[in-house]
Amino acid sequence: MRASYAIGLDVGGTRIAAGLVERKGRIVKETRCSTPKGGPFGVVDAIIDAIGDVAGGVHPSEIAGIGIGLPAQIDFGRQTVEFCTNLPLGGVDMRGLVMSRAKHSVTIDNDGNAAALGESRFGAGKGARDFVMVTLGTGVGGGVFIDGHLYRGHRGLGGEIGHMVVELDGHECPCGAKGHIEAYVARPAIIREAREVAKTFKGAGILRRADDDPERITAEIVVAAANAGDEAAAEIMGRVGHILGETLVGLVNLLNPQLVLIGGGIGESCPLIIERATQAIAAEALAGRRDVRVIPAELGNDAGVVGAAALAFDEHDSREGLHR
Ligand SMILES: [Zn+2]
Repeated sequence: MRASYAIGLDVGGTRIAAGLVERKGRIVKETRCSTPKGGPFGVVDAIIDAIGDVAGGVHPSEIAGIGIGLPAQIDFGRQTVEFCTNLPLGGVDMRGLVMSRAKHSVTIDNDGNAAALGESRFGAGKGARDFVMVTLGTGVGGGVFIDGHLYRGHRGLGGEIGHMVVELDGHECPCGAKGHIEAYVARPAIIREAREVAKTFKGAGILRRADDDPERITAEIVVAAANAGDEAAAEIMGRVGHILGETLVGLVNLLNPQLVLIGGGIGESCPLIIERATQAIAAEALAGRRDVRVIPAELGNDAGVVGAAALAFDEHDSREGLHR
C-alpha cells in the first residue's frame, strides 16, 4: 500500500523539529522543541513526544515510516551513529531505540544529507542531477548529488563538506582536527571575529546592534549589519563567502556540478556570501566549469524535515516494491 504520509525529524544540537509530510513535500503538521541536555535517552524521549504530536489522529497504516536527520556521522548502510560532536549519541542505537517505541520503521541519516535530499526533491535542487549543497549555521554540513543520487561513499559517511581543509595546521575544528572550513565560517567563527573587531572604532556599528555588549553579539547580528551595509560586518561576511568559495573551487573542479546551493540559517540570509563565493569560483575554477550557479537553498529550516521524510518514503517504497 502506498502510504500518504511520512514523519520527518531534524534533530539539531539545540532544537528538534518534526513534521508530518505528504509525498509532495508539504508539511501538514509540525512541532518544535529544545534538544534535551544530558544523555541520549532524553533525546529519544523528545523524539518520541514529537512523533506523537505530529502523528496524532492519523491512522498508522497511512504513515510510511519515520526519517531522522541527526547532527552526526552516520554509517547509512548499517544505520548506526559513528560519531556525534554536539550530542552524546556516538555509538548509540538511535534507530533501534526509536523504532521499538514508535512502532514504525525508522531510517537515520546525517542532517546535511537529509537537507540536501529535501532541496533535491522539493526545493532549489529540483531537476538538477549534479549539485552540491552546503549548509552554513552552527556547523557546516552538506550533501553531494551525483547523477541524481545522494553520494554517500564507501560506508555512507561521505558528504562532510565542513571538514575539508582550508588552512594547513589552522584553527582547531570542533571535530578535533585542524584547519577545517567549519572552524572558519560557522557561527562561532563569525562571533569570534565580530567580538574582536568590536573592540575597535571600526566595529561600533556591530556593537550598537548588540546593545553595546560584546557578549551579546550573535552571528545573526553580524549578518543583519552586513546586509544593512555596515563595513566591518560586510568584511567579516565577505570573508566567509570568500573562504567558502575557495573551498568550493576544489569541489567544482572535481565534480563539475550544475548548481551549488547555500543553505542553513547563515547561508540563506546573507547574499554577500553567495556573491563572494561566486566571485571566487569564477576566478579560480578550471575553464568550462565556471557556469556553475551558486544560489540560495529554498526550504530554510524545513529542508531537514522534508528530506528526512523523503528517506522514510524511499525506505517504505523499496520495502513494498513500489517505485517512485
Ligand atoms: Zn572538522
